[in-house]
Amino acid sequence: MMLELRDLDAGYGDLQVLWGVSLDVESGEIVSLLGSNGAGKTTLLRAISGLIRPFKGKISFKGEDITQLPSHKRVELGLSLVPEGRQLFPMMTVMENLEMGAYTPRAKERMSDSLEWVFTLFPVLKERKDQLAGTMSGGEQQMLAIARALMSRPELLALDEPSMGLAPKLVVEIFRTLQRMRDEGVTILLAEQNARAALEISEKAYIIETGRIVLQGPSKELIQMDEVRRAYLGI
Ligand code: ATP
Repeated sequence: MMLELRDLDAGYGDLQVLWGVSLDVESGEIVSLLGSNGAGKTTLLRAISGLIRPFKGKISFKGEDITQLPSHKRVELGLSLVPEGRQLFPMMTVMENLEMGAYTPRAKERMSDSLEWVFTLFPVLKERKDQLAGTMSGGEQQMLAIARALMSRPELLALDEPSMGLAPKLVVEIFRTLQRMRDEGVTILLAEQNARAALEISEKAYIIETGRIVLQGPSKELIQMDEVRRAYLGI
């Protein structure tokens, strides 16, 4: 098992957002986390990546209890996040942003190999390597945010709404690349409001509503369910 959450409560100060969340991600899978605005997807990814500490519950990564580990230690173990809104360094070039992603000793050693890898996945970044990140299009910035996270050589990559604000054609392109990354050995946890696109590329999905997992199962089965079609696929 790559990632195991058990009975997680989390939130901000006195505000509890997540209630008893349990979730499993197996090695080699794409798992989607679906939910509408404010359901708690970002909060869950923050807890997983160590940006907030849960009130209660346990997070294990590759069998190790990481509940109390700081974020950078989780990155060293192979768990990286592509945050909501991309969080690039806009005044730095594409290349500099990528180099910033390879900040652990292990990642630094593999820098040139990693650059070659991300340029194969996202050829446009190679063409634009000297451009300032802030001047790139939304789609290019999303690709850069993913590529920067890959520079840390994660075994598990968690992505927070990578489709946000992108034209449907670009979403297809980025999601195809996620499948390719999965085929090349990166396990993926994908938080999305775009349920259709996420269900189409994932093996398994969890649906979160007001901080609780309300439905889970193989994506193929969820996509057929009336309640999912009505509430999340607009059918
Ligand atoms: P979105 O798609 O809008 O990002 P989400 O499913 O990711 O939605 P969260 O961002 O996790 O949802 O928000 C869940 C709840 O937590 C919301 O009620 C939100 O207002 C609250 N919340 C999020 N971040 C904070 C914060 N830093 N401080 C206080 N409350 C927060």
